[in-house]
Amino acid sequence: MNADWLARSQAAVWHPCTQMQHHAQTGSPAHLPLVPIARGAGAWLYDFDGKRYLDGISSWWTNLFGHANPRINAALRDQLETLEHVMLAGFTHRPVVELSERLSALTGGALGHAFYASDGASATEIALKMSFHYWRNVGRPEKAEFLCLAGSYHGETVGALAVTDVAIFKDAYAPLVRAAAHVLPSPDFRLGEAGETPADVARRAAAGLADWLEKHGQRTAALIVEPLVQGAAGMAMYDPEYLRLARELCDRHEVHLICDEIAVGFGRTGTFFAHEQAAIRPDLMCLSKGISGGYLPLSVVLSSDTIYAAFLDDSVARAFLHSHSYTGNALACRAALATLDIFAQNDVIAANRSKTGKIAAALAPLAGHPQVRHLRQRGMIAAFDVVTDDPHFSRRFYRAALDNEALLRPIGNTVYLMPPYIVSDDEIAHLGTATRRALDLALA
Ligand SMILES: *Cc1c(COP(=O)(O)O)cnc(C)c1O
Repeated sequence: MNADWLARSQAAVWHPCTQMQHHAQTGSPAHLPLVPIARGAGAWLYDFDGKRYLDGISSWWTNLFGHANPRINAALRDQLETLEHVMLAGFTHRPVVELSERLSALTGGALGHAFYASDGASATEIALKMSFHYWRNVGRPEKAEFLCLAGSYHGETVGALAVTDVAIFKDAYAPLVRAAAHVLPSPDFRLGEAGETPADVARRAAAGLADWLEKHGQRTAALIVEPLVQGAAGMAMYDPEYLRLARELCDRHEVHLICDEIAVGFGRTGTFFAHEQAAIRPDLMCLSKGISGGYLPLSVVLSSDTIYAAFLDDSVARAFLHSHSYTGNALACRAALATLDIFAQNDVIAANRSKTGKIAAALAPLAGHPQVRHLRQRGMIAAFDVVTDDPHFSRRFYRAALDNEALLRPIGNTVYLMPPYIVSDDEIAHLGTATRRALDLALA
């Protein structure tokens, strides 16, 4: 069964983020196996021949409460019988209203206006356009430039690439990307010099932001950041002090702070939103990935009253004329509501605290490994870097993890665990064992 689906997929499906030739090169160190999945249940994925894989990276950071979750399934079945979709321009519906109200409440009412799209990159572009257009609407069109952090990832559409600083995604398209985003030093704690604490590194990076804004604040529209964890940079983690200082500096220089919580929102870092750990609120926030529990494509930009109000006018041209066909899709919003219900009813954030400790314990034996550096964790994300000059390390590790019943997909030489929140203690132990075995096999 498996073999048939593999051949047909390789012939007809152009897979994302993949050199398709690596799928064909069996036997080569570059080989990347294509894994056919027949069904999912809880934290596990099953192929057509009965082989299973523990989803240690939540299917690209999207899944929160397991595959085929009975409660989300039931909500979607009910929604299917009621309303699957209606255009959101000129129309509204129950799931989109309830979801917008609940997301606003989760920001303490600070971000009370929800603009929807379908994927994370679109949310980034919406936030950038909103900030830019806000400054035009309030008569300050010179504020038109953006700031992002070294190693930032905010999506891969051409507009989002302007604030993405990951060479492998950006370099080939550099001529297509507008140059107006400036890249600032990252507060990544790994950049610390001898004796520096993570908070010191954060203050040093914030000093770089302060210098830049002193000179260029007048023409800066917004700073966009991934709060606390820069995922695609290789789970680069940083101290909340950076967010506190960035908020102060953005206020002083009248610059919007955009928090891209697409990966870190919905409890991933130990609080519902990561920015809460700095006791700040952004002006705009992008959400996606976990928002629908990992079920359906849905993203949203939440904005402050101040930004929203600047678009209200008799003139249509001052409105935010942005749309996607599936904006506010009823099924996706209903999956998001079911996801929020689970958070509310199960005290998920508290339950995750004990899982966080179990994940740390599962990886602790690696702390003394001669080729492991910077073992680190923030809530339900744990990572370490592997010292090796093998250019095929990530694919070797990935194959070895699959052989040990785990889906783990390193980013370069960074191995990370980001399991769904329903993962059991035994399953965490399984992930720990698979990680240690895969590391030995990949380095052998
Ligand atoms: C995944 C991600 C995006 C892009 O979302 P897509 O749905 O893949 O377009 C943007 N920002 C961050 C921080 C992400 O992790």
